[in-house]
Amino acid sequence: MNEEQKKCEHLEFEGNCEVTRVTSVEGGPVERYTVDVRVRCAVCRLPFSFKGVPFGLDPRMPTSGLDGLELRAPITPGPNTRDDIDHVREVHGPTTYC
Ligand SMILES: [Zn+2]
Repeated sequence: MNEEQKKCEHLEFEGNCEVTRVTSVEGGPVERYTVDVRVRCAVCRLPFSFKGVPFGLDPRMPTSGLDGLELRAPITPGPNTRDDIDHVREVHGPTTYC
């Protein structure tokens, strides 16, 4: 973090998201979607890190790299299904409120 970034109040933000259509073969049917999200201060360009996210890659849940600067999350068209909600409760247990 440079001096400008240390003094910045981080009042404005820029976000970037890249959606990927995942297929097994080139031109094949879409099997799932993922989104990679980054956020940084629009003034000093300091990137922000995502907290509380497991590290690595997992097609079933959001993850990040060790630096936490990119959120990698599975997404689907439309709202969550009953199975999605049950999976979150199974993974996170009683600390999940919904
Ligand atoms: Zn800033």
